[in-house]
Amino acid sequence: MHDVIIIGAGPAGLSAALVLGRCRRKVLVFDSNQPRNSTSAAMHGFITRDGMHPSEFRAVAREQIRSYPAVEFHDTEVTKVERGEGQFTATAKDGRRFTARMLLLATGIVDEIPQIEGFHQFWGKSVHLCPYCDGWEHQDEPIAVYGRGIDGVEFALEMLGWTGELVLCTDGPADFPKDQFARLEAAKIPLIETPVARLEGEGAQITGVRFRDDTVYSCHALFFTAPQRQRSNLARELGCKFSEDGTTLDCKECASTNVPGVFVAGNTSRGLQLVIMAAADGTQAAFTINQALLEADCPKTDAEVGACAVPSTQSADGGAGEREPHIPACARESKVAAP
Ligand SMILES: Cc1cc2nc3c(=O)[nH]c(=O)nc-3n(C[C@H](O)[C@H](O)[C@H](O)COP(=O)(O)OP(=O)(O)OC[C@H]3O[C@@H](n4cnc5c(N)ncnc54)[C@H](O)[C@@H]3O)c2cc1C
Repeated sequence: MHDVIIIGAGPAGLSAALVLGRCRRKVLVFDSNQPRNSTSAAMHGFITRDGMHPSEFRAVAREQIRSYPAVEFHDTEVTKVERGEGQFTATAKDGRRFTARMLLLATGIVDEIPQIEGFHQFWGKSVHLCPYCDGWEHQDEPIAVYGRGIDGVEFALEMLGWTGELVLCTDGPADFPKDQFARLEAAKIPLIETPVARLEGEGAQITGVRFRDDTVYSCHALFFTAPQRQRSNLARELGCKFSEDGTTLDCKECASTNVPGVFVAGNTSRGLQLVIMAAADGTQAAFTINQALLEADCPKTDAEVGACAVPSTQSADGGAGEREPHIPACARESKVAAP
């Protein structure tokens, strides 16, 4: 049996695979090749990787992981996962079944992009979600912010950090309280409530937003807010708890979920939705999983056996059991004395 099944080979899953490979774990990595940033041409904000194409990032990661032969990739979707006694069984799209002791879900999320003509043409190239990822490239340019409700106002105000030349398009009546109009006015951000007809431009470059009254706002980029959903239903089917708004998976700092033996990493759970954060999450999950496996496999004294040490997939923290687990030096809380 394998040690770990990782579902999802984006930055989170890949990072976990690397660390678990280095821990000499037998790992199966499944990926359906639908990364969240698939439309993006350049990934920003990851130190040493700034501007790299996202597919190159994933290719380099896989190349490096190839040095760890116990990590095995399967480029296919996992359609079902069952939790049994001390093991998980994943069924791939072609019907093949695989088992492992622990499960890591790094399945990512989907952004629900507005159903507007032209959106897909520019999405990820000159139509963006996140100014931390793509704001620098459009600094001081005319920008349209597309968003409804208070989220739209907040986003437009945030965009002032990158340009002073922007409008907020609510694509219909602005359904926010009076004080929000005042905030926009104070920041000199024009509000356009006219419904949007389509986005216009050439190739991947947006040149303007055309409204239903045939007026056009000329811009070099559009930033928008959008609802999100989980890319996969596997976590729900396993009984994992979700945040109150139902979008992200609940997990502890150590990446464990309420379902024993199931861990999560990356955008599917919490925190800043950036590549470097997803990669760090993957490392955290790999660390917790490996510690749990080490603990479960550690030879027990008679007293410990009597105290019924908990099998690895039976407790939510990965099965640390009764004994205080050893914490490697790199993971201990720093207690450096003052000079
Ligand atoms: C247009 C765009 C541009 C972005 N630009 C940046 C940027 O410049 N800098 C930055 O830091 N962040 C950027 N982001 C955010 C970045 O994409 C995410 O933070 C990152 O991809 C999250 O990594 P992840 O591993 O959690 O998920 P993902 O990268 O989405 O990977 C999840 C993987 O799981 C697979 N999967 C899902 N379900 C299954 C299943 N059942 N079986 C098998 N495989 C499955 C998917 O196919 C996918 O490959 C951008 C996002 C978008 C939308």
